[in-house]
Amino acid sequence: MVLPPDKLQKAFKRVEEENWMLRAFLKGQDPDEVDNIVHNLHKELFEDYDCIACSNCCKAIAPIVKGKEIKVISAQFKLTAAEFKNKYLIKTDEGFIINKKPCPFLAESGCSVYEHRPANCREYPFTDKEEILTRLINLVENCAVCPVVFELFERLKKHYSDEFESYKVEYEEIWGNEDEYEYDDEYDDMEEWEADAEFFDQEDWEGLVEYRRQKAEKYPDDSDCQWSLGEAYVLNKEYEKAINILDGLHKKYPDNPNIQHSLLDALFAIGKDETAINWIIKPSILRLDNNILDYCYNFLKKKRKPRTVHELYLELYCEGYPAFDDNQLMDFLLSDNRFTITGSTDKSYDCYISIIKR
Ligand code: SF4
Ligand code: SF4
Repeated sequence: MVLPPDKLQKAFKRVEEENWMLRAFLKGQDPDEVDNIVHNLHKELFEDYDCIACSNCCKAIAPIVKGKEIKVISAQFKLTAAEFKNKYLIKTDEGFIINKKPCPFLAESGCSVYEHRPANCREYPFTDKEEILTRLINLVENCAVCPVVFELFERLKKHYSDEFESYKVEYEEIWGNEDEYEYDDEYDDMEEWEADAEFFDQEDWEGLVEYRRQKAEKYPDDSDCQWSLGEAYVLNKEYEKAINILDGLHKKYPDNPNIQHSLLDALFAIGKDETAINWIIKPSILRLDNNILDYCYNFLKKKRKPRTVHELYLELYCEGYPAFDDNQLMDFLLSDNRFTITGSTDKSYDCYISIIKR
């Protein structure tokens, strides 16, 4: 049964950790099989669900609005495109997005621009798209927003029940006691999550440090709160403070990849490298070499369509810590005659890369 939207937050807290385990488990499954199962569940679950009565996504997600859509919606409000942008949109790396949550076009009866709503709204939560395995992080996050995605994850757990149960045992052996990763209820409620996101939206890193510092003081035993403060120091370019806190955390939680990666971010930012730390568990560092070229080649070989360099970069991020940025990856791939690009080379997420078929 799909949950009513107001029950979702509480239910999500109970299964969040398990959903991250499911994400890790699914990464090892056959991509076409997962697509097939998810697409069938998408059809079945959305068939009877009343999205207008829910509208959770309109309250929690800021959709991208593209050029043509801006024209059409601004005409509905008798505004020029420029006036519309000023009033309702902000520019981000991904393009223009709606500047407020809940969405200003959400009325009591549902979306007031429904006929012309952006493709990003129509397509949400993207569970009928191909290559679901590349969308799993967003989908786990969307379990806290969309009751259908939440139920879809519950059904996936049932579908893979025996294999997933054994996987969970192994996962817990590797990652330790589940309780360690449980968040405090108070820390994990939606408003606090949104407050944190607000600092990211504004790129207010000083504010983020202060906000997370208070949290870290309030929850001294919560490893996630402590790591978040370290991450905020990195974003605010306070690298020595970041290294101090993250190095201590690494000694306590040596296999936590978030702590390892933020520590490496801080070290590389001040011109050092991984050798500056006595690691308890050494992180895997990726460098631009033939292994990376082969990884990308094999990854793209399995894909029907070209991928953006940014997507490739995120894939690599799951394999280890890339000691390079996505623009350096783009240039490196272009130096190898097995790859070709389309789109703009200005930004890695506009630059599509594929392999040359010989
Ligand atoms: S434009 Fe409409 S569908 Fe899209 S987020 Fe706003 S209210 Fe929801
Ligand atoms: S897509 Fe999901 S979150 Fe959005 S209205 Fe429908 S059920 Fe609710």
